[in-house]
Amino acid sequence: MDVLHRFSFIDLPIRGQWVRLENSLAEATQFRVYPKPIHEMLGQMLAAVAMVADNIKFSGAVTLQSRGDGDLLRSLAECKDQAFLRGIMHLEDPDNETMADQPLAQWLGNGQLALSLIPDKATAMQPYQGFVSLEYDTLAQCLEHYFVTSEQLETSLNFASNSGDSSATSPSVTGLLLQRLPNNTQATEIEIDAARDAWHTLTTLAATVTDEELSQLDAQTLLYRLFHEYPCRLHEPRELSYRCTCSREKTDTTLMMLGSDDLSELIEERSEITVDCEFCGNRYSYDRDSATKVLNDLAEQTAANEASDASNNPKTLH
Ligand SMILES: [Zn+2]
Repeated sequence: MDVLHRFSFIDLPIRGQWVRLENSLAEATQFRVYPKPIHEMLGQMLAAVAMVADNIKFSGAVTLQSRGDGDLLRSLAECKDQAFLRGIMHLEDPDNETMADQPLAQWLGNGQLALSLIPDKATAMQPYQGFVSLEYDTLAQCLEHYFVTSEQLETSLNFASNSGDSSATSPSVTGLLLQRLPNNTQATEIEIDAARDAWHTLTTLAATVTDEELSQLDAQTLLYRLFHEYPCRLHEPRELSYRCTCSREKTDTTLMMLGSDDLSELIEERSEITVDCEFCGNRYSYDRDSATKVLNDLAEQTAANEASDASNNPKTLH
């Protein structure tokens, strides 16, 4: 089971998160073989959305996605309802197995990386999208900068991957985040100074963590090894797992987006239409009858939309 632990330093406005993904990373990569740096980046993106989602009280999805013209054309990592992860990377050349590590901006080429909050319809919240500046080499550094500039939260973030080279372990990614919260409005000058000094020391210590320590120690041991001079409370773990949110209904909608002309042409041409979910490999098949039903539903929807458009926008002025 993959877990995320929140922790907080006693009497200091400093919090943190530790997350390790192993099973969900294995499931997210079961249908595609990625070159090592891309596999690791997907792991880091999944860990990042899990951490962001954990801090937001809402039902819906947090996504981190990129689009560009470099070796990495598109990528998406999603955490739904703070618990369910899925993700995918689309490469310019999926067969290129010898990709070397390079700065994030180079992977994306002329591209963008965006962090989005997509609340469920039931949640009375507006969707939000922010762009992550790509001026730093690693995803961790770019996100640190994002949190400071967009959320005014000083942040320290580290990721480490275990490539699972030995037969005893499978690939995993571990993330460690520290965040400095605003001082309590009633904080005394002494407390404010103490918080500033502690932040400086804690982030200096966090920067000393080795990939081996971060990727192999459990949360409790790691926190003690790094920060033992600062008592901290480790909260109950939050469980994370891989789950795809695809469904027959959503696939219907995808088919409808082809438009009625293209869809009827497809039905004419083929006895069966299949749509594969690129995340989980699930195959949705439509025979002529079920495809025609989608086409009819589309026609009905279009008619209903036109009727409501007409009532919303009276074309005759009184
Ligand atoms: Zn799926």
